[in-house]
Amino acid sequence: MNLFKTAVISAALCAAAAPSAMAQSDFNYHVDRFADIEVLRYKVPDFNSLTLNQKRLVYYLSEAALWGRDILWDQHYKHNLVLRQMLETVYQYYDGSLSDTQWLAFEKYVKQVEFANGIHHHYSTDKFIPEFSSEWLAAQLAAAPQGPWTAIQDELLTVIFDPTVDAKGVNQTEGDDLIATSANNLYADGLTQEQVEAYWAGIKDPNDASPVMYGYYSRMALQDGKVVEQPYRLGGLYSEAIRHIIDNLTLAQAYAESDAQRLVIARLIDVYTTADLRISDDYWIKWTEQTDSRVDFINSFIETYGDPLGMIGNWESIVNYKDIEASHRTEVLSDSAQWFEDHSPVDPKFRKPHVRGVSAKVINAAILAGDSYPSSPIGINLPNSLWIRAAHGSKSVTIANLTLAYAEAAVGNGFNQEFVIDQATSDLMDKYLYITDNLHTDLHECLGHGSGILLPGVDDNALKAHGSTIEEARADLFALYYLADPMMLQLGLLDNPDAYKAEYYKYILNGLMTQLVRIEPGKNVEESHMRNRQLIAAWCYEHGKKDKVIELVRRSGKTYIRINDYEALRGLFGQLLAEIQRIRSTGDYQAAANMVETYAVRVDQKLHKEVLRRYASLNIAPYKGFVNPVYTPVYDAQGNITDVTISFTEDFLQQQFRYSRDYSPLTK
Ligand code: ZN
Repeated sequence: MNLFKTAVISAALCAAAAPSAMAQSDFNYHVDRFADIEVLRYKVPDFNSLTLNQKRLVYYLSEAALWGRDILWDQHYKHNLVLRQMLETVYQYYDGSLSDTQWLAFEKYVKQVEFANGIHHHYSTDKFIPEFSSEWLAAQLAAAPQGPWTAIQDELLTVIFDPTVDAKGVNQTEGDDLIATSANNLYADGLTQEQVEAYWAGIKDPNDASPVMYGYYSRMALQDGKVVEQPYRLGGLYSEAIRHIIDNLTLAQAYAESDAQRLVIARLIDVYTTADLRISDDYWIKWTEQTDSRVDFINSFIETYGDPLGMIGNWESIVNYKDIEASHRTEVLSDSAQWFEDHSPVDPKFRKPHVRGVSAKVINAAILAGDSYPSSPIGINLPNSLWIRAAHGSKSVTIANLTLAYAEAAVGNGFNQEFVIDQATSDLMDKYLYITDNLHTDLHECLGHGSGILLPGVDDNALKAHGSTIEEARADLFALYYLADPMMLQLGLLDNPDAYKAEYYKYILNGLMTQLVRIEPGKNVEESHMRNRQLIAAWCYEHGKKDKVIELVRRSGKTYIRINDYEALRGLFGQLLAEIQRIRSTGDYQAAANMVETYAVRVDQKLHKEVLRRYASLNIAPYKGFVNPVYTPVYDAQGNITDVTISFTEDFLQQQFRYSRDYSPLTK
């Protein structure tokens, strides 16, 4: 599970809160700004404190990460790779005026597509609407070299310019055929949701206590009228990319920090070779239990948010190393995991009698790839297999250098002045939000997702399309509830009993108002993390209404959030956690659907308009993402790596085009 992908709102709010000691005025975070996107770069703190072997390990794992880029593009949409080639060729051969409005619109479109790893928005999954004409593009294509796109150029132009063709990457609308109406390439054209569900119903054993991750490593297709799986593996789909990944994993193996880590890499190679789901389970168990190294990584088909049925993994990779000082914070939480479980405000029969193996650490990312690039989560909690989590625990990380980049890049952007109700609240947020945001993430990832049990016989997927929203709500509520607990002070994690109020205010403001900046006028809330946040904020607003726990205040034509009773709000978080845990533990689909439909989806159009107007005046990008640093190995005469240097000067399109040139195993 990833946490807070594009955590821009939280970042915008913690603007001034980053300790000034961390500020390095000579580091320029700002790389590019276009459409609704800002591209940042991130620091790689203490890279030079890694040993030479650790640097070699990071280098080869980074190469293994970059070689997977094409996989995600193709998973997102069947024409993405050829479209990318076509657009990049036009971009590189254009020799007209750089101030031409058609060109400028085209450049923006190219950047949007590169950022989204395809022609659908990375977050809304709506297809981008070009602001240049098809005639203009056709003229550029006529003047540029031909390529694999030439033979299907008319079809591709229709894909780009006809808004009705493949309009939505991932459709989650209740009642629609989610497979037939989603343009992504996880399911072949012609498949219906009914066919896919019937296929799984014939395979899944409802009594299997340790089910494999069905569908995790396969595209689904139709063959002679029958549903078939096309496995992602060497010799199968994406074989060329996977071969390069395996080659670099093999090179990395030589520099593994321990035998256990060497075995993890070997097992991952087995997964890529076979796509065997039992081997995959064994890989994830070994990965979870291997905690003895400073460098760690994920590199696989992992998160299932891109599949409307939540089964097929999207490819991603993050290479990282432990931030030793900051990890102390999560170790403290992790050591008290049982205390938190035992005091959770849920029905005791839904608590976990023995919380196991919560390993938590703070990391710095060294490279982001696939589904984590350029838009990246700021926390990760894996594996996703629930029985493995129950039996072997999970690894949970927060990514310190990315949260720091968000916070420092947002300094002085005017967000607090516009949306926070008064100076006192604003001051509290300036002072505590950086730490409470980090603690919220830690609690969510280290304890929240790992808490609670399913009652015997309850299917992991019982909540179907609402599963992700309810699961994220559960983890967020666990975090919110405990952030205000005196235990935070006893453990030395906070030094002021009022500090939690900074996070509470931000959470409600975000959930009721400011996250709406990511939604187009007239649309509903769709993405599951956003649904979860609105669900929590709107439920608490509604249930605290008669006591005015949260108020919407109008002042000179603007709406503000006022929280009158923070303790009562904590009580509401606890109540809602109890209900959400009950829904999860018992697999109460109807209650989940009611909860989501009542609180999480609908948008107050008037308030939405107001928020968009006020936000627009600040000119802050609603979404952020990152370019990677560039790692360059230094070789001796024998070809051994003697050092790895790091540079931060590459701009956004330079990086994209370099990746397309150097790491494109799947293009023709
Ligand atoms: Zn989560």
